[in-house]
Parts: sequence; C-alpha cells; structure tokens
Amino acid sequence: MELLGKSREELRALCVAMGEPAYRGDQLYRALYAERNFDLARATNLPAAFREKLAAETTVTLPIVRQRYMSTDGSVRYLLGLGEGKAFNTEGTEVTAKKKIKKGASVEAVFMPSEARQTICISTQAGCAVDCQFCMTAQLGLIRNLTAAEILAQILLPLEEHKETLTPQTNVVLMGQGEPLLNYDNVMAAMGILLDQSGIGLAPKHVTLSTSGIVPGIERLAKETRRPKLAISLNASSDAQRDVLMPINKKYPLRKLLAACKAFPRGSREYITFEYVLLGGVNDTAEDARRVARLMADLGRVKVNLIPWNPGSLPYKEPSEDGIERFHKILLDKGVPAFTRYSRGRDVMAACGQLALSEVNSQQFTVLS
Ligand code: SF4
Repeated sequence: MELLGKSREELRALCVAMGEPAYRGDQLYRALYAERNFDLARATNLPAAFREKLAAETTVTLPIVRQRYMSTDGSVRYLLGLGEGKAFNTEGTEVTAKKKIKKGASVEAVFMPSEARQTICISTQAGCAVDCQFCMTAQLGLIRNLTAAEILAQILLPLEEHKETLTPQTNVVLMGQGEPLLNYDNVMAAMGILLDQSGIGLAPKHVTLSTSGIVPGIERLAKETRRPKLAISLNASSDAQRDVLMPINKKYPLRKLLAACKAFPRGSREYITFEYVLLGGVNDTAEDARRVARLMADLGRVKVNLIPWNPGSLPYKEPSEDGIERFHKILLDKGVPAFTRYSRGRDVMAACGQLALSEVNSQQFTVLS
C-alpha cells in the first residue's frame, strides 16, 4: 500500500487497521511531509516491529528523475517518470492514453532558487485536454490525472535534493503541465497536506493555483476554507481573440470567467493574478492593453503579469521591447497593477510541456549537467 499522498486521518486509520495506536499515524504524517523521511525503516521514533511491518506492507514511491536540466540562472528542470494510470477528458469520461506514452507518463517540475526564496513549479496532470494554442503541453493531449502523491512528490523531491541551500520561504505554483481545476479532488487533497502546518506547512499566500478559466472549479475553490491564491491565464483581450488562443473560452467566456473572479473571496492583501503571455503581433497592441484594463476595471484586487513569449517551436513571435513597455504603461496609467515577468530557465525550455513533448517526439535537446 502506498503511503505518500495519504492525509493524516488516512494514516491514523491505517495504523489502527495495522494494530497500532492512532497516534502512530501522526508520526508517519510528520515523518513523510515535515521531515521528508521517505525511508521509514530509519524512522527510529517508531518501534522496530512496526517499522518491519511498514516495510513489508507499505511503500513510499517518489517519481523517477529521468533527467535534470540545469539552467544558467540556477533553475533546475526535472523530467519525472510516473507509472501507468488512467486518463479522463474534460467531461470526466475515461479515455485511452496515447500509445507512445501509455507505459509511463512524464511530467515536469521546475525548482527556481533566488536569494530570498525558492519557487517550485509543479504539474497536476500528465498532458492536458484544454488545447491552448500557444502551449506545448496541449500537443500531448491529456494522458492522465496525477494522484495527490505525484503532485506532492514534485515538491518534496526538489526540497530534499536542495536541503543544504534552502532559504526559509518556499513558494509553490501550480503552473506546469495540466489544468489543476480539471483534477480538482487530487489537487485539493495535495493542497490539504501542503498547507497544513504539521504537513509540508506552506502558508496559503505562498501557493498559487493557475487556471485557464474553468468557471465551476473557480466557484468550488472559492468555497474552500484553506486554499491557494488564484491566478487566471488570460492571454487575450476579447472573446473573439480568446476563442482562438484558448478554445476553452467558448465554454467559459470572459463574462462568466470575470464574474467568477469578481466573486472570488480574497484576504486583506490578496490579489487575483491575471497572466498575459504577450504574443508578438497577436495580442500585444495598445488597443489590447486598453481592453485588458477595461476587463480588470470592476474586479476588486487584481494584478496583471505580462509574460513576453518565449521563442520555441510554436509559430509565435516575441513581442518587441517597445511593445512590452507600451502595454505595461497603458495598464499602469489606467490604474491596473502590472508587472513584466521573464520566464526563468529559458535555456532549458521554459514553456510547460516542452520536455515531455521532446521525449515523445524523440527530439534532441541539450542536457547542461
Ligand atoms: S496552458 Fe495550461 S491549460 Fe492550457 S493547454 Fe497548456 S497546460 Fe493546459
């Protein structure tokens, strides 16, 4: 039986079923998530007989690191191998996984250290069904949902690997492969452990869930008592533009999406972040900037992150420096907090899904270390 991904209550029940007192479950919970002790045979606070039983009847499975890509800016991009699993489409119906990758999915996690904090970007699905036109992951299609254990492992593994150099603050962003709100239950099971002070113990303000705009998922998230911050992948200034770039917009158009954002509860200093990838000649005009400012006008506390397109194998162009500055200035002039962010790890393929897709296509890419 797999232990990773189990909640405190599940571990307590498991211990009772194994003939142990329930508080052993609390010890297991702390060992796995707070101490990152994955070899329970060495958890000397547990009785030897119980450790033997655990070794015989349970497992703690971390993904296989298929490759590490070291960026010159210090980021480490992990290509992680997962076991076989089930795939579901956006309606929740099981689908047949793509033949080439059926034997084992790959996902990516990125560890980005800086002076003040480390940020870990994680995936929530292998592949994705949402079909955003500027995203490499979309080309994979949906392979399968990740389990809570697989989501947490992408955080635990790099934290353990970099334990000698960690700063006190860790941020986690759910911005890798997949649409988190289409794997809601597993994502929230993982968030429960991530945000629990006796689990991994991050503050909710340090965890951000980014969605393409799955309105029922946003409404459901709004009702959670403990939840990550919300980010919306916007990328367009009108329905006509967004229908093309992000076809999910036909199902959840801007009017519905922005209404769900407006109603989304926020703490006293909490903002909803709107991410806007600037695609040269596509969505980066002054008129686009003015329309984005109008979309933001009535939503309460929001901010816009402008992300200049990272050149890759998709047919989009980088925006010009002048275009980026003009867009940014129009938002600020209209009173919308705006920031320009350049993606980190550009030299190790920073657009989500690029590594897994490279593997599927057997393309060549450079391993720096
Ligand atoms: S941008 Fe996100 S939601 Fe859109 S296809 Fe890529 S992984 Fe899926």
